[in-house]
Amino acid sequence: MTNSSLQPAKISRVIPDSIGFEVGFDVGDAIVSINGICPRDLIDYQFLCADDVLEIEVQDTTGKTHHLEIEKDYDEDLGLEFETALFDGLMQCNNRCPFCFIDQQPEGKRDSLYLKDDDYRLSFLYGSYLTLTNLTEKEWQRIEQMRLSPLYVSVHATEPELRIRLLKNPRAGKILEQLKWFQERRLQIHAQVVVCPHINDGIHLEKTLLDLASFHQKYNPTVISAAVVPVGLTRFRPPDDELTPVTQAQAQAVIKQVQTLQKQFQKKLKTNFAWLADEWFLIARENLPSESDYEDYPQIGNGVGSIRQFIKSFLLTGKKLLPTTITTPKTLTWVVGNAVELAFEPLVNQLNQVNGLTVNLAALKSDYWGQEITVTGLLTGRDLISQLGGKNLGDGILLPTVMLKHDEQRFLDDVTVAEVSQALGIEIFCVTGVEELMQTCLQPISPASPPSPN
Ligand code: SF4
Repeated sequence: MTNSSLQPAKISRVIPDSIGFEVGFDVGDAIVSINGICPRDLIDYQFLCADDVLEIEVQDTTGKTHHLEIEKDYDEDLGLEFETALFDGLMQCNNRCPFCFIDQQPEGKRDSLYLKDDDYRLSFLYGSYLTLTNLTEKEWQRIEQMRLSPLYVSVHATEPELRIRLLKNPRAGKILEQLKWFQERRLQIHAQVVVCPHINDGIHLEKTLLDLASFHQKYNPTVISAAVVPVGLTRFRPPDDELTPVTQAQAQAVIKQVQTLQKQFQKKLKTNFAWLADEWFLIARENLPSESDYEDYPQIGNGVGSIRQFIKSFLLTGKKLLPTTITTPKTLTWVVGNAVELAFEPLVNQLNQVNGLTVNLAALKSDYWGQEITVTGLLTGRDLISQLGGKNLGDGILLPTVMLKHDEQRFLDDVTVAEVSQALGIEIFCVTGVEELMQTCLQPISPASPPSPN
């Protein structure tokens, strides 16, 4: 990443009635500088906007430059959104992890699908994981000065040689020094460990979690939490990658090992500290932990407790939202990964108690990725088309948005929701969260006819 790639910050949305709206910003305008400084990213932009007087240089859609002066309360937002959070480009990773999901995709897709994000700014803004192996001295200084905390760090192993082997990067062995760096500055991180059988499991996993827990001081812990996640493999990975998929017995062993450590951590640190991703329980075919085990769900974004939280919210909301009957009968197909089929059965039963409503669960696996057991978030458009084609899907499909790319109507295989809808000849309702799911089930069917299949 160099300054030469710095672009003006292009506006994608102006919030109605905001300061930016009143001043006359338009979609497509681009902010060049604020008080003489060119923002590199959303973090700079937010920092520069925290002032009473802003002198802004803007380029309109014709390329003409304007200078504006805005007076406001220092904490008032301008109400502008941007096409990207990074105005100087994405910091890509310099590792070659054999389990990298980006490398486990088929060839020949759009270039952007092969971008490997290892950017501390996205970690701070959106909670994506980074490895700390590509930071220059300047960026370390910026993290310290702007107090960019917490960050989300892929640790995988604390033993230097092992981490170097996992990330295939000689710069990866400094993780313990880096954790000390965060500790000395009272900055925090959430950690994750992707477990690869026979490489960083067993005694290595124990050492990693104990090392990380030693940075969980009572006040202002450096490592707030650690997620333990099973390696995910697809059929597109190279044959000589040394990786093997997690078996049921291995998943059971990891659950036992981490739960034993959780007991120790509870005694000493008063928190479970290390968290098992839901997938472990699905692979092991064991019950998910109870709700209270997840404390305040510190690693929910990493698939730790999301199923339990969804079920809880469903059962609580259902009592309030679900009527005994709906006037116009309807039938919907709720598509999920087959990994959650058993866990979601009671939810479907509850929906089907509403007179006039029929919800059928379509629990699919991903032939696209070559997985027998699949979590919902990994199902692709092609999986839906191949496994639901020719079936009676009722009046529409309930599609959890977790299957789609962030802010896009596209599956991981780049197929769009509209293409799937077209191919199956049925309306698709994208739903996020329990309330939207229930409201979609209850609302009357729109008179619009479904798209034609060709
Ligand atoms: S750090 Fe992440 S993006 Fe980079 S190679 Fe490893 S898994 Fe892939």
